[in-house]
Amino acid sequence: MIQMLRDTPEWDVCIIGGGATGLGAAVDAATRGLKTILFEQHDFAKGTSSRSTKLVHGGVRYLQQGNIKLVMEALKERGLLIKNAPHLAHNQKFVVPNYKWWEGPFYGIGLKIYDWMAGKLGLGPSEFLSKEQTLELAPTLDPEGLRGSIVYHDGQFDDARLAISIAQTAAQYNGVVLNYFPVTGLLKTKNKIGGLQVKDALTGATYEVKSKAVINATGIFADSVMHMDDLHHKNIVTHSQGIHLVVDKEFLPGDTAIMIPKTDDGRVLFAVPWHNKIVLGTTDIPVAKPSLEPVPKDEEINFILTHIGRYLTKDPQLSDVRSMFAGLRPLVKGKTKKTAALSRDHLITVSGSGLITITGGKWTTYRKMAEDVIDIAIEKNNLSKKPCVTEELKLFGHDQQPRSATSTAQADIKKAINDEMCMTIEDFLSRRTRHLLLDAKAAIEAAPLVAKIMAAEMNKDENWISEQINDFNTIAKHYIPSSNLISATAGKTLN
Ligand SMILES: Cc1cc2nc3c(=O)[nH]c(=O)nc-3n(C[C@H](O)[C@H](O)[C@H](O)COP(=O)(O)OP(=O)(O)OC[C@H]3O[C@@H](n4cnc5c(N)ncnc54)[C@H](O)[C@@H]3O)c2cc1C
Repeated sequence: MIQMLRDTPEWDVCIIGGGATGLGAAVDAATRGLKTILFEQHDFAKGTSSRSTKLVHGGVRYLQQGNIKLVMEALKERGLLIKNAPHLAHNQKFVVPNYKWWEGPFYGIGLKIYDWMAGKLGLGPSEFLSKEQTLELAPTLDPEGLRGSIVYHDGQFDDARLAISIAQTAAQYNGVVLNYFPVTGLLKTKNKIGGLQVKDALTGATYEVKSKAVINATGIFADSVMHMDDLHHKNIVTHSQGIHLVVDKEFLPGDTAIMIPKTDDGRVLFAVPWHNKIVLGTTDIPVAKPSLEPVPKDEEINFILTHIGRYLTKDPQLSDVRSMFAGLRPLVKGKTKKTAALSRDHLITVSGSGLITITGGKWTTYRKMAEDVIDIAIEKNNLSKKPCVTEELKLFGHDQQPRSATSTAQADIKKAINDEMCMTIEDFLSRRTRHLLLDAKAAIEAAPLVAKIMAAEMNKDENWISEQINDFNTIAKHYIPSSNLISATAGKTLN
């Protein structure tokens, strides 16, 4: 990939950011035959794209807000993703428990509309269930006052693994995708962008890269690249943090997820089986600054434990939390200060110098976002016009069994290094596998073994091994609830 970077005098499309949006754009451009290169400052999906709730969904919540267009678009994309990446996305059954008389008809009608809107790409009809049927599917739901439920279908996926599969698809079509390559500046002639400056973060080498189109897909960091373009730029992205807690399967045995349509602050709360654990989430609080490693706040942890505890027979305690992870939503700035009310729709802007910025959206709609942004890149830069082909495009690995989310087998580590550009033990334990998000303590224990196998494969020395373990532990400790908080709250539900 680096050799291709050196050997290509000019690219058609150059993308900054290797999350869902940037990687999707790379596949879209490469499959239209455009010379495409993407730079990610850290690892692919290190940002928001590895920290989602892992749902491929139309967004029942946006239906409540009356955002029909967004829901229709997302439902179509949901269907396409499950078809094109069956190795990483699947149909997931959800139960919406009803404790009040009006909840059955109210949510039932809403979910029927949701089914209808999905049309041919629907994943199965929603149904009303009795109390007994509900408890068969979700035996740990609190039976007291339970009237019944509605079952509906949405998609679930592995976000970071999908990002790697998308990167591999781009490479299959001669796209170049480089991780650990921060973009440090833009190249301009007569105030028109003609490329950018990048640095190889692992060797320190720097490059000037020429490109006809430059796309800024840096999510929560979009404003920083816009500042490189225009010193007077006014920020357009605001950040909202959402966290997830991961607990053992005993809290929700079986394959059915739970969806609580309305919490105290009007949010939807999920408990979803994922890689043999249960993911609980999420929250929505504004944060001032973007960060690649946001840290859950105590109030968010308490919020999830308190609310989910109201619906389960056994309340999860802080000491039951195997891992917790936070992500920041890149939301396009609106007039309201309440981030839960901002639109998840995406926005594409083109600056006076030609920098194309794409922000907002969600994982589910990454393909459509990519199509839209590449259409604009073609139009604005007179690139050769070929139609988008990704609706029917099977993603890399679609015909293979995915590897276990917790494997530390030598063969899997070697494959991650050689086929998936895994460079650090954090890449392996957090995104090539999902150890860190599933059980942070176990991931810390596995780190020395993984480092040793990686060092042997990558020809690294003892110093590298100890640096890697240190770096990993520094990050991983934020995935474990603090021991102070645990001892202070042991045996009682937080409030
Ligand atoms: C808590 C939470 C739950 C969510 N749940 C869902 C869900 O269940 N389903 C769903 O569909 N969506 C969900 N989303 C939304 C979805 O995760 C995001 O919309 C999506 O991941 C954003 O992708 P992105 O590529 O735009 O941003 P990112 O993934 O953040 O990617 C941007 C990348 O740009 C890189 N970058 C920044 N600056 C530079 C630079 N100078 N040079 C090179 N690279 C740079 C960053 O390192 C980063 O990797 C959720 C979001 C959050 C926060």
